[in-house]
Amino acid sequence: MSKIFIFFLYLILISSCSIQDNYTQKRVEMVKAQIITRGIRDKEVIRAMLRVERHRFVPKHLRNFAYEDRPLPIGEGQTISQPYIVALMTELLRLNPQDRILEIGTGSGYQAAILAEIAKEVYTVEILPTLAERAKNLLEDLGYKNIRVKCGDGYLGWPEYAPFEAIIVTCAPEHIPQPLITQLAEGGRMVIPVGKFPYQKLLLVEKKEGKIKKKEIIPVLFVPMLRR
Ligand code: SAH
Repeated sequence: MSKIFIFFLYLILISSCSIQDNYTQKRVEMVKAQIITRGIRDKEVIRAMLRVERHRFVPKHLRNFAYEDRPLPIGEGQTISQPYIVALMTELLRLNPQDRILEIGTGSGYQAAILAEIAKEVYTVEILPTLAERAKNLLEDLGYKNIRVKCGDGYLGWPEYAPFEAIIVTCAPEHIPQPLITQLAEGGRMVIPVGKFPYQKLLLVEKKEGKIKKKEIIPVLFVPMLRR
């Protein structure tokens, strides 16, 4: 890593974390050890990972583990993804400030908050009503005005607000849902784990001149996409 790059990152770290509490320190450590060291380079992604308080998105009794290198249970048999996977998927989307993003699988709302720090609007769909309601309330409490949460089957996307410049799916279907391909804007990027549990691959899907191009990124382990 170049010295200038490291210096720049330290400037971000210091400016983003003026109030030093226990969680802030853990978050800075998380970003250094799990995000930067493993090769995430997008400055906006790093900044968002420093800013969003991950401990607010996990159950109270698990807050001390919020910055560890692993997924955590959030109730209803679901999980909040490992921080590195959140950062990697976000970086793969190559977001612009004007982008409108569709997320399938709101879960805790953490990934939606990361996206909302970087892009213009986030539309997120969660199939389980208790999780959808909880995430909606938390994101409102945290002051996010550019996130819309809906309870429904994300296989169908959110046609009313399509097309989306970026789509992120955080539960794994066995194939890429056709409605999501349709709702991806020309030039848009989608990241999606695909395959039967536990053999899933993270795919980057891009739409160029109406055609779909797929690239395999890494093997991953996500909860399966449920259907209504
Ligand atoms: N992005 C989340 C992680 C979510 S885990 C976070 O940051 O916390 C995957 C989520 O996808 C679970 O909450 C699960 O209930 C949801 N899910 C599963 N099938 C779905 C579907 N068909 N539509 C929408 N959400 C779905």
